[in-house]
Amino acid sequence: MAIPQPKKITSAPDIARETIKQMAMRRVEPTPNNYELIYNEIAGTPQKETLNNAIKKALKQLPNQSTEQANWINRWEKLLKQDNWAGLADVLNEGMDASVTQTKQWPDAIRQLLKGWDARRAGVDPARKKETLERVLINYGNDPQLSSKLQNLANSWGANEAGSTEVTNISGDAVVVESETLEVSKTTSLLQKIDNKISSVMAVGNDETKQFHETFQILQEMLKQSLNHGLIPRLDGYPELREEAHELALLTEKARKLKDWQFMAKQFRALLVRVELIGANEEGIKRDLLGLLKLLLSNISELVSDDQWLRGQVATVQTIISGPLDRVQIQSAEKSLKEVIYKQGMVKHSLIEAKNAFKSMISTFVDRLKFMADTSGSYHEKIEVYADKLSETDDIIRINELLESLMHDTHAMQTDIMRSREALLHQREEAESSQEKIKKLQEELTQLSEAVRMDQLTGVLNRRGLDDALTTEISRFSRGGGPLTLALLDIDNFKHLNDTYGHHVGDVALKHLANVVKKTIRPTDIVTRLGGEEFVILLPDTNIDEAIITMTRLQRSLTKEYFLGNNERLLITFSAGIALYKMDEEQVSLIHRADQAMYLAKKSGKNKVMTEIDLANAS
Ligand code: GH3
Ligand code: MG
Ligand code: MG
Repeated sequence: MAIPQPKKITSAPDIARETIKQMAMRRVEPTPNNYELIYNEIAGTPQKETLNNAIKKALKQLPNQSTEQANWINRWEKLLKQDNWAGLADVLNEGMDASVTQTKQWPDAIRQLLKGWDARRAGVDPARKKETLERVLINYGNDPQLSSKLQNLANSWGANEAGSTEVTNISGDAVVVESETLEVSKTTSLLQKIDNKISSVMAVGNDETKQFHETFQILQEMLKQSLNHGLIPRLDGYPELREEAHELALLTEKARKLKDWQFMAKQFRALLVRVELIGANEEGIKRDLLGLLKLLLSNISELVSDDQWLRGQVATVQTIISGPLDRVQIQSAEKSLKEVIYKQGMVKHSLIEAKNAFKSMISTFVDRLKFMADTSGSYHEKIEVYADKLSETDDIIRINELLESLMHDTHAMQTDIMRSREALLHQREEAESSQEKIKKLQEELTQLSEAVRMDQLTGVLNRRGLDDALTTEISRFSRGGGPLTLALLDIDNFKHLNDTYGHHVGDVALKHLANVVKKTIRPTDIVTRLGGEEFVILLPDTNIDEAIITMTRLQRSLTKEYFLGNNERLLITFSAGIALYKMDEEQVSLIHRADQAMYLAKKSGKNKVMTEIDLANAS
């Protein structure tokens, strides 16, 4: 049986009535828009496309993966629902901003590519680079991951490696600029391709592009910081370069387009080459100054060969400048020398006073001697006169008179001699005490010179130097620096080495160890000689595990590097203990924990590295 079709309503009033009925039944909002929709439905007239509907449909077709995209679409829907067209400008602006930020994500990839193109890595020549680049463009041309694929490619070319070798080989500005121009023109066509891709990525807009954008912002900030805090402060005295670097820093904020970044990359490289040239020049000046200082020091040390106290200081400076320059050692030596100079200033003052006193005593002594000679001379003459007169007379009265005069003179003479003798004894005592005083002062000066913070045998910091360095490192840690680790090492069976090969070979072993340690550790690590055959290494920004790696590396270096003792190739081993600094801990407590761990290493058979954690497990 056929289902009867509802009767079609054709008259306008009937359609209007039915529309109102349907609106009530369907419980739709009584808006003119809804009335129109239902009216058309009943009348069978095709729906008229409204602006609202068109926008709604368009919104449904837009990508809606990222939070930003979803938010933007929500804002549109709200706007449509509330019919609030006043908010249109805001929504449109937001959309524009989002698309602009998407364009910013690409410069990072491009910068990497440029860097990679210039980097020199064995087996990757420009032809190979071109080929791999073409392949990536073909495979990922329409892929939103294209920029990250390009970055990976640039990294495989060596874009991430520090410093480009071409810089060090360059001898003049002109050459540099020419080669730069050549390189840039070679990359221009490929950049053009990348540029085209930017527009397609702009249209996509998903989580990945958001990530690119954030990465780009971080890199942009890093570049700005490197310029403002890394490069510019080092260009004092080079106002032109400083100005250029400053302009580049400003450009990092303004640059939006690929060609801006392309321009910046070129400027940046040209600037770096000029900075490198300055560096080379300053390096040369440093070398010349060091040469001059060495010459001066070797002359001084020859001149003052008998002045023990001055020689100690000259030796310290010579030790420092003989190895690679180490700021901690230089600063420590400067501190020590200042202290020594101050104390020497005081001691030397007393020494001069003592010397003056001695000189004046000697001159009094000489005066007295002269006086005695004078007195005894006149006595001698008088005796002769008396003798003459005695031989000339037989008159007893005259003889008596002569005798009386002689007695008187002899008495005076005796008093003079007695007085002179006393004075002489007194002066001798004073001279002796003065000499004693000078000797003491000179000893004090020699000791002062030894009290500097360097260990004269190995050229590393001594115990006092360690205390200072530890204080500095602890305060750095307390200001929020990374973990601070201390390693204490003690040479194994050192007494046996001394007994077998002699003390001198023992000394050579100590110097050898200090040199291998210096070569193995990072420039920021600090090596010190605690005493005897014990050394302490401070490892800033290093945790226990990293410290174990460092000490194990040191053990390995020692097994590879022998030293000569009585023409024999000798190897040394050590046992080490490692401890991590705890906030507000006393220095001695940190050293003590490392010492305990070192002791455990000895007990466990020597040639081992143990930590305070092993110590806790063992107890
Ligand atoms: P262990 O493996 O247990 O550490 O044994 P060891 O022989 O290394 O240790 P011990 O403490 O018994 O001996 C250390 C020796 O180091 C004794 C001392 O004469 C020697 N020594 C200390 N300072 C110096 C120095 O400046 N030069 C030389 N040549 N020897 C030194
Ligand atoms: Mg020992
Ligand atoms: Mg030992």
